[in-house]
Amino acid sequence: MKDISCKLLVIGAGPGGYVCAIRAGQLNVDTVIVEAAKVGGTCLLVGCIPSKALIHAADEFAKVAHFAVGQTPLGISVAEPAIDFSKTIAWKDGIVSRLNNGVAGLLKKANVKIVTGRASFRDGKTIEVETLTGQQIIRAENVVIATGSAPVEVPSLPFGGNVISSTEALSLPEIPEKLVVVGGGYIGLELGTAFAKLGSKVTVVEAQSKVLPQYDAELTRPVVKHLNELGITVLTGAKAKGVSSKGDALLIETADGKDERIAADKILVTVGRKPVTSGWGLEEIDIDMDGRFVRIDDKCRTSMRGVYAIGDVTGEPMLAHRAMAQGEMVAEIVAGENRSWDKRAIAAVCFTDPEIVTVGLSPDEAKQAGHEIKIGLFPFAANGRAMTKEGEEGFVRVVAAASNHLILGIQAVGHGVSELSASFALAVEMGARLEDIAGTIHAHPTQGEGFQEAALKALGHALHI
Ligand code: FAD
Repeated sequence: MKDISCKLLVIGAGPGGYVCAIRAGQLNVDTVIVEAAKVGGTCLLVGCIPSKALIHAADEFAKVAHFAVGQTPLGISVAEPAIDFSKTIAWKDGIVSRLNNGVAGLLKKANVKIVTGRASFRDGKTIEVETLTGQQIIRAENVVIATGSAPVEVPSLPFGGNVISSTEALSLPEIPEKLVVVGGGYIGLELGTAFAKLGSKVTVVEAQSKVLPQYDAELTRPVVKHLNELGITVLTGAKAKGVSSKGDALLIETADGKDERIAADKILVTVGRKPVTSGWGLEEIDIDMDGRFVRIDDKCRTSMRGVYAIGDVTGEPMLAHRAMAQGEMVAEIVAGENRSWDKRAIAAVCFTDPEIVTVGLSPDEAKQAGHEIKIGLFPFAANGRAMTKEGEEGFVRVVAAASNHLILGIQAVGHGVSELSASFALAVEMGARLEDIAGTIHAHPTQGEGFQEAALKALGHALHI
């Protein structure tokens, strides 16, 4: 096979890598992208997109099931709902496949060459790729490491048989009757909630004293309440110790030190994700690490000249939109533009029920950073649109500097608040002050009015509370 030379070689076609390659191609940089599986990466194939499809299907099913219980306040009732789960999975796969083709088309349109196979470093400028038809050598002036992350395996619960990761959970042939989720982070709770709505008896086992430990109790309270309403058993302070010999139960040590056995058809392990930094020659080239992650500077440069790293392989927050923003920036740097990472905030959404959105600093983080703060909290119970959507749970909370009213952070929990994340991020990114949000006329009736009211509340004169 003839060697390839290029200006930019991207390893990994997840959201970080494919965005980097598309942007570089748009800027006429001669670009090659190597992908071991399919373009789209974790996010498109086994992460963000399929999980949100499953969550949507589960929400729809739960809605119908709710109407089937009897006469609801809305006056709607239906017969017993049914689900053909194989069709649900086929529908989800169809979305993934359309997006996968879309990304391949965008790469082609940007004149990016796609090489399918596993890449490994020979040296900082030379990569060898094991393709189906033999070994391909690629030499590049610039290399971008965008190899992403993989599920963490618990030594006492190796993946296989009934012990599955989020990847398998998104393509199960049938809805498990009894599902045990090990790890109460956002992936575990998103999937656990979806399966509970689809009819599984779900138990969540979390080693820490609370689920979603990165959020404060005010934000997680509505989520925990709804987990209980869905009949999900949440065991906190409990350690998963192993799986029964038949693979039909999880063995745990409870918070009070007792050994217990939880019957399970599937044991979904979601205890975090680890960067893909080994097994492909990265260890052999002399590159600085930052703990488990590849160390980068504000231009995503690694310690090796001409080698960049982006996305999950570079650290937290492991989110698709962070990876994409880094990818776009690196492409522009390679094309000769003067860019650096100057983002004030990255929105994060937890697609639980209800959803949680956070941007910037929480009240505690703001105080720890030395700010004197003003907080404005507006409950959706006082928001007309939330009432008309039967979504009165939750609130919007704005955190601002007391001195100049600069907005430092915004948090919300409530039905559909993921769609408010863009205006929250914009406010923090543009350096908005409380008066900017309070003085922006928000359409009525919308949940976004909760944001305006939270800013007004922080200023001491909310209108609807
Ligand atoms: P990845 O998407 O992991 O892509 C890396 C790619 O590199 C892969 O395709 C892999 O095959 C390839 N690769 C690795 N090694 C090699 C090699 N040696 N040679 C060639 N190719 C290689 N994030 C959000 O922002 N929102 C969400 O709602 C969300 N939901 C999620 C739900 C689940 C269930 C999971 C698991 C993740 C979710 N995430 C979400 C996280 C998101 O998927 C990641 O942050 C994102 O995919 C990271 O992008 P990346 O480009 O860094 O890496």
